[in-house]
Amino acid sequence: MSEARFSLAGSNSQSSQDNKRDNERTVVAGWDATLFTEAGISVHSNVENSSINGLGLVIPGGSDLLDENTQLTVSINTGHRQFTRKAVVRWLVERGSEIRLGVQYLNHAGLLPETHQLDVAAIRIDPAIAMKLSAGIAVRRKILPFLQINGLTHVACADIKNVTVLNSVGRMLKSPMCIWPVDAKALDRVLKEVYGNAASQPIALPGSKQAARDKQSGAGNQAIDLAEDLLYAAFIRQASDIHVDAHAKGAGIRFRVDGELETFAEIKTDIYVELASRLKVISALDIAEKRAPQDGRFTYKFAGSNQQVDIRAATIPTKYGERITMRLLGVQSDSLTLAKLGFVEHHQHMIEQFLKRIQGMMLLTGPTGSGKTTTLYVAMTKLLRERSVNIMTVEDPIEYEIPGAAQCEIDSNSDKVTFNSALRSILRHDPDVVMVGEIRDKQTAEIAIKAALTGHMVLSTLHTNSAVATITRLIDMGVAPYLVAAALRVVIAQRLLKRLCSYCRISRPLSRLEAMTLERVDLEGALIYEPSGCVYCANKGYKGRIGLYEVLELRTEWARVVAEGGSESELIAMMKAAGINNLLEDAVDKMLAGDTSYAEVLQIASSW
Ligand SMILES: [Zn+2]
Repeated sequence: MSEARFSLAGSNSQSSQDNKRDNERTVVAGWDATLFTEAGISVHSNVENSSINGLGLVIPGGSDLLDENTQLTVSINTGHRQFTRKAVVRWLVERGSEIRLGVQYLNHAGLLPETHQLDVAAIRIDPAIAMKLSAGIAVRRKILPFLQINGLTHVACADIKNVTVLNSVGRMLKSPMCIWPVDAKALDRVLKEVYGNAASQPIALPGSKQAARDKQSGAGNQAIDLAEDLLYAAFIRQASDIHVDAHAKGAGIRFRVDGELETFAEIKTDIYVELASRLKVISALDIAEKRAPQDGRFTYKFAGSNQQVDIRAATIPTKYGERITMRLLGVQSDSLTLAKLGFVEHHQHMIEQFLKRIQGMMLLTGPTGSGKTTTLYVAMTKLLRERSVNIMTVEDPIEYEIPGAAQCEIDSNSDKVTFNSALRSILRHDPDVVMVGEIRDKQTAEIAIKAALTGHMVLSTLHTNSAVATITRLIDMGVAPYLVAAALRVVIAQRLLKRLCSYCRISRPLSRLEAMTLERVDLEGALIYEPSGCVYCANKGYKGRIGLYEVLELRTEWARVVAEGGSESELIAMMKAAGINNLLEDAVDKMLAGDTSYAEVLQIASSW
């Protein structure tokens, strides 16, 4: 049985390929590795060579902590990727002041198809791999290629005994396969999502109306297919943005996933030119205009599923052609809750208490991409579920649709609808709850505060670095301190960190140096987790993101200090005295809970 799972073009060729890969040692440059002993002491080393099985290392200053058979946790930094393995020292030689050693990885995650029942709903699908198989075959044969690691294609399959089918799939994929048996019903649901119901189509295609329009516009078939593949792949990959970047030899296409850019494809100049006009057509932009920036938006519906996605497109002329950036809106809005966003229980309670109020203001703060809008949407959805209220919003852009709320989008191309003017008219429509996408100027701040003092609940965001900075920012904008004190009830500062994949994270103790860096010497030796890599996280070690929060409730005492014009440092001292966690403290808590890694927390610490 296990042979069937691995065999493709015969089990022999598979294992000989494996052996070849295992023995290949690649000399690497610029990699370094931190070795953690079981006591949590860390040693820095340079990586000389690497293979699937282990590393050759040099410790420049030497170390007396290591011996043959010492077990270690090794964090490897390749310059663009960081991953961790449990390992054991296999050999060790001293040469002058330096030590050379070889470490062998220990089987880390233990996720093998023989022993692990793959949860197909939890895997991250690489659309480029899924598209290697036609939808017809995938759906009919209940088989889904979803990931490629080191030349091996991972395939989810409902019927692993059907060797004939597996062999023919292997030939189509032109790659050795690792076959994971999965529950047939669960796989059906995922296949439907990936390939749509259109089993005869190579991929999920949009409605034929669009195709008819394409004919009129005269766009080449190749460009139409590529544009469709691109939007579809971004959707499956849960990307937030698509970047098409023209350069001397063509263009690079990248996706932003969980805040990081990843390359999707490189295309040649002639295809880029066609793709650019095609994307401009569907975004309702002027294809003839290539020298001025343009904005547009459209809704894209995937055939076969009820899924659709709103996309905002922007173009800007660059040296080698137009750069096109597309933002996919509202992709991740499903079934989010405050708990899922990473709010701890007492933070959830504070927000829930606020949402029961009749009037007052709640502000969210943080840099672009810190998840403020998502938090606001979750709060509004909760309000609509629990209370009968009239919610009106003014946004730029509308990122998620909220059924039951009246959402108004400001027009960035003209001055007709601004935050300021839209907010004024919204207040004439008898709202209970007003959401203002962002407070950017004094006028908007003043109307919002006035609304929060006259029987409305006001939700909004502001660009600052911390919760207390939000208070001082409003006052710097020119709002009277007593008004801020009277209206503002809750301020939330937030950031996003990468969330460790719970299937493959690796534990190790926090070293003394790390504890000192975090200014938490008490944490030396505490158990933390590092990213590794498995089929669930596309071998990245991280999957999704987790929010960090600093939640400030302005009760009587706070309101008094704010009204009297208390300074930022005074407010920070009050926060400390009240034992309110700041962002860094929340990050450390989440590291200790195994949600994120030391490397991620360090980003917060260094921006402090
Ligand atoms: Zn993983």
